[in-house]
Amino acid sequence: MSGWTPQDENLSFQLVEVIRFFNQKGWSPATSTNYSLRTSIPNEIMISKSGVDKLYFSQEDLIKIDLEGKIAPDFQGPGIKSSAETEIHTWLYKKFPETNCVLHTHSTLGTALSMIFASEKKISFDGLEILKGLEGNTTHNLKEILPIVPNSQDMKDIIRDMEIHFKENPSIHGFLIAGHGLYTWGKDLFTTKRHIETYEFLFEVTQAMGK
Ligand SMILES: [Zn+2]
Repeated sequence: MSGWTPQDENLSFQLVEVIRFFNQKGWSPATSTNYSLRTSIPNEIMISKSGVDKLYFSQEDLIKIDLEGKIAPDFQGPGIKSSAETEIHTWLYKKFPETNCVLHTHSTLGTALSMIFASEKKISFDGLEILKGLEGNTTHNLKEILPIVPNSQDMKDIIRDMEIHFKENPSIHGFLIAGHGLYTWGKDLFTTKRHIETYEFLFEVTQAMGK
């Protein structure tokens, strides 16, 4: 495949495997969700193309953009666009220079809980061993806040609301958009995959406990 360095070609292969795994779990129905990684080139990321069924997602469905969301010339073509939510990815990379991966899923449980807890603007988790799956947590004995912001087709609304949550809780690892889905980020692909799995497990436990 053209357009990537050998190192980034390898990263793109790994990202595709993670995207297909999430699809098998039922976390990316109906062409929804989006995924990105920083490449080895500064200020350049690979991001999933819009409108692709994730069951069939391949390396050809990853495109190269800069941190302003502009598609690199060798990846431009008729009908090729990145997700409408690209601005959330580029905002997170600019906000957290140590972040190298952003993953976004639309699971049934995450979506349902985001509506049930929307008026509280957050879900609090504590006392669960799985919380150590979130980077930097060394004990189950802590309170992990997952903010919930209203959905909007204008990403600037979501970013503005999340900036307020970051001021209140600088150590958060992700957030829910109400009636929509989950965003999380991390230092690399496998840390961020682990964050998605941790949150999905937390959602299942919350449901199983009847909350
Ligand atoms: Zn989405």
